[in-house]
Amino acid sequence: MWFAVDVTAAPEAREAVEYGLMEAGALGTEERGPSAGGFVAVAGYFDAEPGAGRVREALGEALRIYGLAPSDVRSLELREVEARDWLAEWKKGWRPVRVGRFVVAPPWSEVEEDAGAIVLRVEPGMAFGTGTHETTRLCLAAIEKHFVGGSLLDVGTGTGVLAIAAAKLAPRARVSACDTDPLAVEVATENARLNGVGGSIDFWTGSVGEATEPAEVVCANLTADVIIPLLPSLTAVARGRLILSGVLETQAEGVLLSLGGLGAEAREVTRDGEWVAITV
Ligand code: SAH
Repeated sequence: MWFAVDVTAAPEAREAVEYGLMEAGALGTEERGPSAGGFVAVAGYFDAEPGAGRVREALGEALRIYGLAPSDVRSLELREVEARDWLAEWKKGWRPVRVGRFVVAPPWSEVEEDAGAIVLRVEPGMAFGTGTHETTRLCLAAIEKHFVGGSLLDVGTGTGVLAIAAAKLAPRARVSACDTDPLAVEVATENARLNGVGGSIDFWTGSVGEATEPAEVVCANLTADVIIPLLPSLTAVARGRLILSGVLETQAEGVLLSLGGLGAEAREVTRDGEWVAITV
């Protein structure tokens, strides 16, 4: 038996709600169309009964990160769903995501490979970073553009998608990746193995700090409130390029100001929806 949490929210809060539901442990989310009074209905699917407190807390935190009001979430309801039907539907709905040469696809989907394609197999649902989020796509594009080999450090690796992309793009590169969440490190290590680059990425639990070895390219797809205090460490370990994402358009100015304060200069700002990536 699976469980769904149905949330009605203001339309501008749709993405925040999806993010909050995933943070609360949902394995997937789905927009269920407009509901009465101009609200949108979003469902999050869970393989165990989620605690209402945890869901509420995660939604509250998501609204805060997105700069929205608590009242943007109208209602929250739990229902039971038949596991098989939903899982089959959900898997059918998955499409590979193409970013430049990279194709991010779940392990079970068939991918038409052209000559230049680099296929990254990532099981969706576990940690963030299934290739479908705007910020992941922005980072993949920046890695393809700026990483020509040498060393790369992925801070906040999640599923490992960016580290795996770098290791496949430049097979002789030294790639390392960290995450403060030990579960993410476990998932990322397994994903690297599935992608045949298990031996070429050094994963560790933790974050970037004084003892971290410098790398030519450093990628950090975190949130603005996490990135800003980490900027002194991030700029210190990045020898060449620093790629920052997980930043909302409204937060970009704050990140750029902090960078300026450190004497670092943004070379490029790319956008996808309301998200930006900053290359330093
Ligand atoms: N790199 C992936 C996942 C990004 S999600 C992608 O681009 O899709 C951000 C990840 O950063 C999460 O897995 C979270 O656990 C981790 N994280 C949060 N704060 C962190 C910190 N201070 N240092 C390192 N990792 C952190």
